[in-house]
Amino acid sequence: MADLRRVMSVFATGITVITVGGDFPNGMTANAFGSVSLDPPLVLCCVSRTARLHGALSAGGSFAVSVLSAEQEEIARRFADHSRPHGWGQFAPPGWRLGRYTGAPLLDGALAWLECEVIQETVAGDHSVFVASVLDAATGGDRPALLFHGSAFHELRRVPAADVAD
Ligand SMILES: Cc1cc2nc3c(=O)[nH]c(=O)nc-3n(C[C@H](O)[C@H](O)[C@H](O)COP(=O)(O)OP(=O)(O)OC[C@H]3O[C@@H](n4cnc5c(N)ncnc54)[C@H](O)[C@@H]3O)c2cc1C
Repeated sequence: MADLRRVMSVFATGITVITVGGDFPNGMTANAFGSVSLDPPLVLCCVSRTARLHGALSAGGSFAVSVLSAEQEEIARRFADHSRPHGWGQFAPPGWRLGRYTGAPLLDGALAWLECEVIQETVAGDHSVFVASVLDAATGGDRPALLFHGSAFHELRRVPAADVAD
């Protein structure tokens, strides 16, 4: 079998930053995020079992998700960098506000925000799959999304309508 990481790199995804607040605030860049159910509203994320964020979610915690815009590549890189500061220090400008339901940071300039509460954890290999109830969700401005494809960041561009086959 070909290397799974290389194969999956051709599957383009959006990019989020998953955040937790409280006494041990943290943020983590994640593309293993998706919608599970509309009624009730559920999402999932997959988090490495060795990630700092894993402990916070494992405790049945709540978290927020900021869906990044194309202008936020630096933020995606920052929250994937192991050498970033711990605690509030990693939430440097351009700014954020605390989520009303979770107390987790919601990043300014994101395309959308969700506040979620973990309802189920399934250990899956070296990651855990967290299914979470959506407590609140909102969209920001209508701007291009940040994408991850081929192990690189990209900006989403609309395919011209004339190029789309029926
Ligand atoms: C585009 C993209 C998408 C990603 N999607 C996901 C995702 O969906 N789920 C996910 O779990 N992760 C994902 N990551 C990786 C994640 O963003 C980083 O690992 C992040 O640093 C984790 O944050 P943390 O604070 O939870 O853990 P950290 O404390 O940063 O540590 C996370 C892991 O890195 C190891 N580590 C710590 N320091 C170092 C170091 N100096 N050198 C090497 N390894 C070290 C730790 O042992 C641990 O295994 C993604 C990264 C990118 C760039």
